[in-house]
Amino acid sequence: MIPAHHPDDALLAGYAAGTLDEVTGLVVATHLALCPACRNAVALFEAVGGALLDDVEPAPMAPDALPAVMARLDREDAGGRLPAADARPDGAPESVPALPRPLRDYVGGDLDAVRWKRLIRGVDLYDIPVGSTGGGRIKARLMRIKGGVAVPQHTHEGIELTLVLAGGFSDASGHYRRGDLACSDAEVDHRPVADEGADCVCVTLTDAPLRLTGPLMRLLNPFVRF
Ligand SMILES: [Zn+2]
Repeated sequence: MIPAHHPDDALLAGYAAGTLDEVTGLVVATHLALCPACRNAVALFEAVGGALLDDVEPAPMAPDALPAVMARLDREDAGGRLPAADARPDGAPESVPALPRPLRDYVGGDLDAVRWKRLIRGVDLYDIPVGSTGGGRIKARLMRIKGGVAVPQHTHEGIELTLVLAGGFSDASGHYRRGDLACSDAEVDHRPVADEGADCVCVTLTDAPLRLTGPLMRLLNPFVRF
């Protein structure tokens, strides 16, 4: 199944140029693992970037530059900055991992390795250990929402990216399934509801705490931090 909702060109170009922060790069890389169209777009951005570099006057190279570049290429081959496709069509055998490669490396296993923490009834969270992220402000989390459950209404003080890994959810902006990336900003006050019948698992990126806006949830705000 090809995702229907993609990162915008700025994110894909930033990924190709290597200018994204680690968390954003991880979310985009996870989408790429599930989306051949965006893998092609990134390859194109990389080709364009390379052509632009070719036009730059050559500068003298340090004697160790070539071995360093070759070593880096080896690492990228092994680690796979551009992950191979391992998309799982719905209903595929269990043996195909739910977490695509770049994410699995951070989590240290597939979904069954995740140590969930209960946020509220029907919603569990897991903080993904990410290294260098602008003073820790940008957070990556896995969120598991029980089928049919609504995440409390909230707005964002920063950008939120939500990438669906299993199941699906709907909010005012549309319906999202595995591989789909939802983008929300401070303007959006939304209330995602997981599809009936299966847990929805997402990876989310926030660069500021979410503010809960429902009538009851406002009271909880000092106590509940997403
Ligand atoms: Zn895509």
